[in-house]
Amino acid sequence: MSHLDCLSEVYSECANGAGQPSVYLTFDDGPHPFCTPKVLDVLAEHCVPATFFVIGQYAADQPALIQRMIAEGHKVANHTMTHPDLSECEPDEVQREIFEANRAIKAACPRASVQYIRAPYGVWTEEVIASAASAGLSAVHWSADPRDWSRPGVDAIVDAVLASVRPGAIVLLHDGCPPREMKPGDDADLRSQTIMALSRIIPALHDRGFAMRSLPQQH
Ligand SMILES: [Zn+2]
Repeated sequence: MSHLDCLSEVYSECANGAGQPSVYLTFDDGPHPFCTPKVLDVLAEHCVPATFFVIGQYAADQPALIQRMIAEGHKVANHTMTHPDLSECEPDEVQREIFEANRAIKAACPRASVQYIRAPYGVWTEEVIASAASAGLSAVHWSADPRDWSRPGVDAIVDAVLASVRPGAIVLLHDGCPPREMKPGDDADLRSQTIMALSRIIPALHDRGFAMRSLPQQH
């Protein structure tokens, strides 16, 4: 977790009139043409909204998936244009990565309201947060990380999420893979563990009395 001013949990639980504790599912590194539709299918099956931190260049390649996210009630957020480690970028590059991703999302789906950003690898700097703010974005980290990207096994992903959720938790999952880390022939298996885990995590969270929501609207 960063000491910088970014959100790791949602504190305003009182916004929910029913008093039901909420958990926020978030997906990074998509949209991916093979994995993201399957994630969206599982979410739709359970009527659960989520927040997708998308990579701008993928949003430009897959506008229909951005449109589907919005049409199905999910939020789309900024995960930079090309997923660099922003702490190694020059200030103008940081700015460009953030603003270009916003533009790519809006070009894919003009009615998308982009309000949040997550820095690649969760690497936050003062400069990143200031650039994000100048683009109208709030920084969002996470509080529950099952490291699903490392493909530790479906049980490990489910157990790690269930062990770490509490009211207001922000859960980090992945529906894609950064461009630099993609390997040839990865598609079929890339996020199959995440997708199978998700179909168990949602009912398990419901059983524990949690509602799942997309990140709250910023005013
Ligand atoms: Zn990422």
